[in-house]
Amino acid sequence: MVATPAWPPRSLPRLFVAQTLSEGASVAVDGTYLAAVLRLGVGDKVKLFDDRTGEWLAEIAEAGRKRVTLTVGERLRERESVPDLWLLFAPVKRGRIDWLVEKATELGVARLIPVITRRTIVERLNLDRLRAHAIEAAEQCERTALPELVEAQKLDALLNAWPADRALYFADEAGGAPLAPAPGPAAILIGPEGGFTDEERDAVRALPQARPVSLGPRILRADTAALAAVSLWMAAAGDWRSSPRAR
Ligand code: SAM
Repeated sequence: MVATPAWPPRSLPRLFVAQTLSEGASVAVDGTYLAAVLRLGVGDKVKLFDDRTGEWLAEIAEAGRKRVTLTVGERLRERESVPDLWLLFAPVKRGRIDWLVEKATELGVARLIPVITRRTIVERLNLDRLRAHAIEAAEQCERTALPELVEAQKLDALLNAWPADRALYFADEAGGAPLAPAPGPAAILIGPEGGFTDEERDAVRALPQARPVSLGPRILRADTAALAAVSLWMAAAGDWRSSPRAR
């Protein structure tokens, strides 16, 4: 049987750029990926997005291994509207947290909030590295909006300032109802590998917006639990009724 060739790729390369885009603008990017890795040259097309104005078609005007300059052409898409879901997760080890951020970005989470709990082991986070993973995932999955990645916050501080209109789906290995989200602003809270303390569990459950949920009879790793819960929420209350090619 003849294998389907993997090259040329079906879609154009996509890049996030920090510069605000507009028709006719000139954008310079590092040449490593476009020129050195993909071997693109003058006249080749690339899609750009900036997390503000949507996605644009751009053409390479100058190509060097160190720097590629592109001219921005037509706008292909407006910036998407992102489902209003935050993911609060207790940081886990490097590798696993990178994976979590990458997959949460692909699944469409709007805001990622690392939460420090009593049993959180990894307290120092490299937000720049995590942002780079989020950008790479957004480029790959065709998001036009990046998830907001905020500084780590203590659980009690978050609970004290919790917005009145935002449901908090609290993944509680000690028991809860199956996740059945209602429409509206929401957040999912996942504990550390060691779980929540009883005091933390009581504090979360005391919040009127909290909805304790179960993710089944098995103890999931924190990263698995986060993505299972996000998937359930997205399917029921997010944007999973639309498909990529129908945009
Ligand atoms: N050490 C804890 C224990 O043995 O009970 C397990 C913690 S689990 C590895 C990490 C987090 O994932 C939990 O705090 C919870 O938020 C979530 N989680 C894992 N499995 C779950 C389940 N079956 N139902 C609800 N939440 C779960």
